[in-house]
Order: sequence, then structure tokens, then C-alpha cells
Amino acid sequence: MLIDGKLVEGASTFENVNPATEEVIGEVADGTVADAETAIAAARRAFDETDWSTDRVFRKRCLEQLHDALDREREVLRSQVVAEAGAPILLTYAIQLDSVIEDMQWDIELIDRYEWERELGVHEFFGMRSARNVRKEAVGVAALITPWNFPFMLNISKLAPALAAGNTAVLKPAPDTPWSATIIGRLIAEETDIPDGVVNVVPSGDPAAVGEVLTGDPRVDLVSFTGSTAVGKHIMARASDTLKKVFLELGGKSATIVLDDADFSEVLPSAPMICTHAGQGCAITTRMLLPRSRYDEGIAIVAEAFERFTFGDPTDPSFMMGPLISAKQRERVLAMIEQGKQEATLLVGGGPATQFDKGFWVEPTLFGDVDPDHTIAQEEIFGPVLSVIPYEDDDDAVRIANNSRYGLSGAVTGGSLDRAIGVAERVRTGTLAINGGQWFAPDSPFGGYRQSGVGREHGIEGFEEYLETKTLGLPA
Ligand code: NAD
Repeated sequence: MLIDGKLVEGASTFENVNPATEEVIGEVADGTVADAETAIAAARRAFDETDWSTDRVFRKRCLEQLHDALDREREVLRSQVVAEAGAPILLTYAIQLDSVIEDMQWDIELIDRYEWERELGVHEFFGMRSARNVRKEAVGVAALITPWNFPFMLNISKLAPALAAGNTAVLKPAPDTPWSATIIGRLIAEETDIPDGVVNVVPSGDPAAVGEVLTGDPRVDLVSFTGSTAVGKHIMARASDTLKKVFLELGGKSATIVLDDADFSEVLPSAPMICTHAGQGCAITTRMLLPRSRYDEGIAIVAEAFERFTFGDPTDPSFMMGPLISAKQRERVLAMIEQGKQEATLLVGGGPATQFDKGFWVEPTLFGDVDPDHTIAQEEIFGPVLSVIPYEDDDDAVRIANNSRYGLSGAVTGGSLDRAIGVAERVRTGTLAINGGQWFAPDSPFGGYRQSGVGREHGIEGFEEYLETKTLGLPA
């Protein structure tokens, strides 16, 4: 753990398990309620009693040191995220690691570029003339709570803007992937001038114990959470007691709409890409909407692509899919697949992948003839499972895409860009890929409508989640 500038071991430990091999790869400090409280006290003191929140030049230098340290440690980080998350190594060359380190520069440079202060000019009110000056300043102590699927990426996606904005932080990683946080803690302590208490890292084998302290403690000003919608709702309720600022990135059940003028032979063979990282991505489009007029032709291409899709050892760069994170998660996904078999037509897969002696594997699974109200069309499965739903016309496709309590992401693909944009404009979701365009970038705001979350990560919108606004009235 990193608490108040010191690397501490903790009274006991919990096991970090490789989900591909079930081997115990290390022991990790098991943070307690008392550790969480000490960390909060340190973050509070660092915010209130140092000039971290006001000295932008110093902050920028410290974040550059952290960036450079992460860059030097890149290969250790790579092997750790593959080992603890079962993440295919191929993904670490992009979103699981390399692009995260590059993208961190965007937040660091924003410290200079951001408009921290603006003049509103003179306003007359009851005969008195006043100038107004609007200042942006850090919220205070931020609790950063992250899940296991993209652990390094999500830790940095929160830490970089939180620190660039001038907050102090307590980072609590998921029990399944503690290393992607503890290594950041070690590098901060050993290789940066970040003052004691500014960043604290408190892993815990108990998923909720440390998080409950962070979301209830009155000394914490902001909770930034990525995880399941169920835990997000709980956190919002719990944080309401002290009216913390709450920022939530939650689940998704995003839809790809394939329009009837799309080139199926070009678009549909990539359908198994939803199995990337075994489908453990919140923004993955796990519903595919095919026009009923071309359904048989489309589903045949998708099924053939699923049959051909290969997966395996995450250290092998030829695979985009490894295991699920844990035995518990595998049981959950298999139960959802059994539910799917009751509801729709199983076309490919449908069970555990039995060719591996060890590890938490599930076959890439394809369901056809799915009804928009089926459980497998409504619930986030978080496994390599695609539900294909036939639709009648564009209005019907939009209605089905919006028939979800989630609204995180989606895709529209068709022969005419204008028509695809027109359909995308009617889908109520935070991000959309149109005709293969990618929305992901450090300056692209990312987040959800409805129960996919509150607020945005990345971009100016994401940075401003970590800021308060202060308006000064001045004599004119
Ligand atoms: P989870 O909600 O179970 O856990 C997320 C984090 O919250 C973990 O660190 C966990 O220990 C902690 N936590 C659990 N109970 C808590 C409590 N009572 N108080 C405070 N913290 C608590 O999610 P998960 O299973 O780790 O991750 C998968 C989920 O994350 C999926 O639903 C996925 O869609 C979502 N996710 C969303 C995004 C996004 O950006 N929208 C990104 C990645 C994952």
C-alpha cells in the first residue's frame, strides 16, 4: 500500500491469481478500514495544508515524473496486466497500457492549456456595477474506485485528471487486479516528488470494506467510480449522506445497428471482435441488430466468423481473447448462457472452453433470433456472448437500440454515411462508432446515458468532473 508517502505492507495479505492458469502470482497487502481512514486523513491534510492544489507548475513537473517512471516500467506493467487480468498481450500495445501512457500527456499538458480563470465583464444589479471572475479549482479529496477489466487504464484515467486538477486521492483497485495500482503507488513513492499524502493506494481482498469507508467518510469530497451499475447505485446512495460529488462509469448493453444497405461481407466478419478480452468491456457492442429482410444472409456470415474465431493464452500475441477474470465470473456468464438457451437460438459455443486444464474459460457464444426483451438482450453478461436481434426498419432498429436501461455506447454501419449519422443521432447513448469510425481518444469524452452512469471520463468534460467552480464578484 501507499499511505501518507510510505510504502506499507499491511497486517495481512490476499492472493493475486492469474485467471489463465489459476496460479497465485503474488501476495498483496490487505487494506483494512483503519488503513483507509489513515489514507483519507493523509489525503485531507495534503489537500488542506500543502500548496499541491494551487501550485500548477509543481504539479505538472510531478506528473511528468510519474509519466516517465511509468514509461520506464512499461514492460513490467505489461507482464503484470497480462498476468493478473488475463488481458491479451496484444491489447497492452494499445488500450490496456501503451496508449494509456501516451494519453496521460494530454492531461499533463492540459494543466497549461486549461482556462482556469475567466472574466465575465460588468453586470449591473440593483444599481450596483460589478465585475465577475470565475475560477476553477480542485474539488478536494477524491476517492478513486476501479474495476478489474482494464485496471491500469482505469487507474490512470482517474488519477491523471484528478491530480492534474489539483486534488489529492485515495485509489482503491479491484481485489482481482491490485498490482496495476500498487505499482503506481511504488513509482510515486520512489520516483516522483509528489508530496506525502497526495496519492494513497489501498488495495483490499474484500471488495467492499475499503470502498464503504471512502464513500461514507465526510473528509472525502468526490467519488469517482467505475464498475457495475448495482455498486454504482449503492455508492450514489451512500455518498448522498455527505453530498459528495459523484462520478459514475457503469455498465452497458450497447447495440450495433447494421443498416440494410451495409456491405455485409465487409462489415460482419469482424463480429467476433466483441469477444475481445473475453467480452469484459463495458462499451462492447454485445447486441447486434440485423435487418429482417437480410437476416439469414447476415447471421450466416456472423456464425461462420464465430466458428473461425480463435482464442487462448493471453501471453500469445495472436489472440484477442483470454479467460474470464475469476471462477465466480465464469459461473455468472455460464448461467446467463443457460438462460439464453431457454430464450433464443444458440448458434455457436454455449459452454466452458474445455480444452484448457486450468483457468476460467468460456467459449465465444452466438445467439440468434433474440427478442429485444429477452434477458440476454437486456442484462450485461460481461462475457464473450453476442445476441443478434432482427429488426423491421430504421425506426424499429432505433427503438430496439434504445430499449435498454443502459446507454453507454453503440455503432451504426450502412452504405450511406448520412443515413448512418441520422440513425446514430436518434440512439440515446454516450458514444457511437459510425461506419467504422473510432470515438476513443484522450480528448473524447466517454460515459453513459441512463443507468450507464453520471458524468464523463476523458476530454475536457472528464477533467471538469474533478473541478469546482468559484465565482468572485468585484467592484467595477
Ligand atoms: P464492481 O462494481 O463489482 O466493482 C468495481 C469496484 O468497486 C471494485 O474496486 C470493487 O472492489 C468496488 N466495490 C465493490 N463494492 C463496493 C462498495 N460497496 N463500495 C465501494 N466500492 C465497492 O465491478 P467489477 O465486477 O469489478 O467490474 C465490472 C463492471 O464494471 C461491469 O459492470 C462493467 O460494465 C463496469 N465497467 C464500466 C466501465 C465504464 O467506463 N463505464 C469501464 C469498465 C468496467
